[in-house]
Amino acid sequence: MNRLSLTLALALVAGGAGGAETELWRLDCGQIAVRDINAFSDNFAYSPGPRTLTDSCYLVRHDKDYLLWDTGLPAALLKAPTDPAAAMSPSLGQVLPAQLAEIGITPGQIGRIGISHGHFDHTGQAADFPQATLLIGAADWEGMGQTPPPFGFDPAALDHWRTGGGKVDPVRGDRDVFGDGSVVMLSAPGHTAGEMALLVRLEKTGPVLLSGDVVHFRDQIKAGSVPPFNESRADSLASVSRIEEIARNLKARLVIQHDPADIALLPAFPESAR
Ligand SMILES: [Zn+2]
Repeated sequence: MNRLSLTLALALVAGGAGGAETELWRLDCGQIAVRDINAFSDNFAYSPGPRTLTDSCYLVRHDKDYLLWDTGLPAALLKAPTDPAAAMSPSLGQVLPAQLAEIGITPGQIGRIGISHGHFDHTGQAADFPQATLLIGAADWEGMGQTPPPFGFDPAALDHWRTGGGKVDPVRGDRDVFGDGSVVMLSAPGHTAGEMALLVRLEKTGPVLLSGDVVHFRDQIKAGSVPPFNESRADSLASVSRIEEIARNLKARLVIQHDPADIALLPAFPESAR
């Protein structure tokens, strides 16, 4: 092993410990009122009835660099009334730049946006961060260019990058974002072909695993249930297994981004986890 690869290996084992400082904020990116939660089940797993899902985004600080993980529902849904007749009714309470301002961060300071997958409730406010490099699963980036695009994709949300106005970095397999093991995008296809989760290693809190939409709420794991609109049932179940095993092996806190009880595992904004 040469010196460079030894250094890299040691950094990955250490998981950034003793290196860069990482910090994690949970941001409000809206909510989705679901008329019948079995809209997320292909095997009738749940008692029929409504449920409200959160739409959460996350800000990660790595020393002086910032990564925004997911960009939530579009600002066009700000204060949108809930439609009880709709199968899913999304609404946004506050936009990302206003929340970032509360902790003294401007959109221009966000160097990277990481998108868990191409669905419209994860790409909605990306255009507010035009200078950021876009990190997205390569398969979902390719999906943005398909006619018609995959279910739930809104390619227009990423037009700035699709038309060459911004830098895109399509991710194949896993990606160690800052090169020291502290923030790692984990390939977990199935919900979409390019779905990703995010591992963030924090010094005091320990490792945190942000789910993307590998899973939408806690009881989905036990039920072995898959949303019928997922790209692949088999890949979805395999990816849930991978995420659960990683959480167990690293003793990481799995935070399911659409589950209101789960996101409460992290401090309420503007507090952060370190
Ligand atoms: Zn999704």
